[in-house]
Amino acid sequence: MNEPIKTDVLIIGAGPCGLFAVFELGLLDMKAHLVDILDKIGGQCAELYPEKPIYDIPGVPFTTAHGLVDALMAQIKPFGPTFHLQEMVETIEKVGDPLFRVKTDQGKLFEAKVVLIAAGGGSFQPKRPPIPGIEAYEEKSVFYSVRKMEAFRDQRILIVGGGDSALDWTLNLAPIASHLTLLHRREQFRAAPDSVNKMMALAGEGKIDFVLGQVSALEGEGGRIAKAIVKRNDGSDFHIACDALLPFFGLTMKLGPVADWGIELKDGELIPVDTAAFESSVPGIFAIGDINWYPGKLKLILCGFHEAALAAQKAYHYVFPDKRLVFQYTTSSSSLQKKLGVR
Ligand SMILES: Cc1cc2nc3c(=O)[nH]c(=O)nc-3n(C[C@H](O)[C@H](O)[C@H](O)COP(=O)(O)OP(=O)(O)OC[C@H]3O[C@@H](n4cnc5c(N)ncnc54)[C@H](O)[C@@H]3O)c2cc1C
Repeated sequence: MNEPIKTDVLIIGAGPCGLFAVFELGLLDMKAHLVDILDKIGGQCAELYPEKPIYDIPGVPFTTAHGLVDALMAQIKPFGPTFHLQEMVETIEKVGDPLFRVKTDQGKLFEAKVVLIAAGGGSFQPKRPPIPGIEAYEEKSVFYSVRKMEAFRDQRILIVGGGDSALDWTLNLAPIASHLTLLHRREQFRAAPDSVNKMMALAGEGKIDFVLGQVSALEGEGGRIAKAIVKRNDGSDFHIACDALLPFFGLTMKLGPVADWGIELKDGELIPVDTAAFESSVPGIFAIGDINWYPGKLKLILCGFHEAALAAQKAYHYVFPDKRLVFQYTTSSSSLQKKLGVR
């Protein structure tokens, strides 16, 4: 069996909350390793909406999801976290008080005094629309997320859906598409009203088409779409010529192995925590970000940042049981500034 990698804290998930936890732990001298199923750092920000704007990060009036991940990486650099990407944490075994042995699907073993679960919604997967044969077009001309907007320049784009992703990508891609159609099955939207108003304005100016109906079939060759057959609500058919189809039918958050870690769950999918330290029902296992639940929980990045700060305070007592924790500001503490490499 492999020798375990020993660390103070093992963070499961390298989304924004897992990344910021490295910073809060690092200020308190705790070293972290992070494991993530994805091949990249940044969680939902990197996988689902890298180029979309974010306006509600405190003190940052505007950034993109990609920009936020880059900034977090710069912020945690002084603490030298180690990333283990494309590995899924499969098991957590309690072997001490507290000491955990954590194993990934690639056979890697960790021994950590504290486990911090920042696993978001687990392994998230886009919902596939019920269109026969759509698999043959996936990742060639059917995409469930937009990694690089430029890849869609001058294309005829068909976006399907009525939620935030469908509306946001309609607004973002309209200026670079040669033609863009938004297709939704009804006139009511789940998206933010402001986005709906902006989309309607574009449609009113003739810059995009907004059409009611549902895709019933695709035609094309070698994975390249030529047209989508659309069924109107009255049952009649027509087609929309397109080069790319972007269906946004929401995500299935597959919790994955989290459910088997012996931690109490709420509704089978969220980890209830206390709001003093964001610790789970198992002492030494913390949960922050989208994966946790407590009364009033909001799935916002800024909430996960706060949770990381408080979890680190309690984690300190498990990692350094004999030490006293002194509260300090980065503004005025020379010892914190040394750790940050700015003094
Ligand atoms: C389109 C869109 C727009 C959004 N806009 C905003 C916004 O403007 N402002 C805002 O505050 N929030 C926004 N959000 C929500 C925000 O992205 C989430 O709240 C945030 O990403 C949660 O961060 P997290 O670190 O908890 O989890 P995530 O970002 O979900 O990251 C969790 C990571 O854990 C990994 N993981 C899961 N299970 C395992 C396992 N067993 N082993 C290893 N790795 C695992 C996953 O692969 C993933 O990378 C938006 C979300 C979407 C989809």
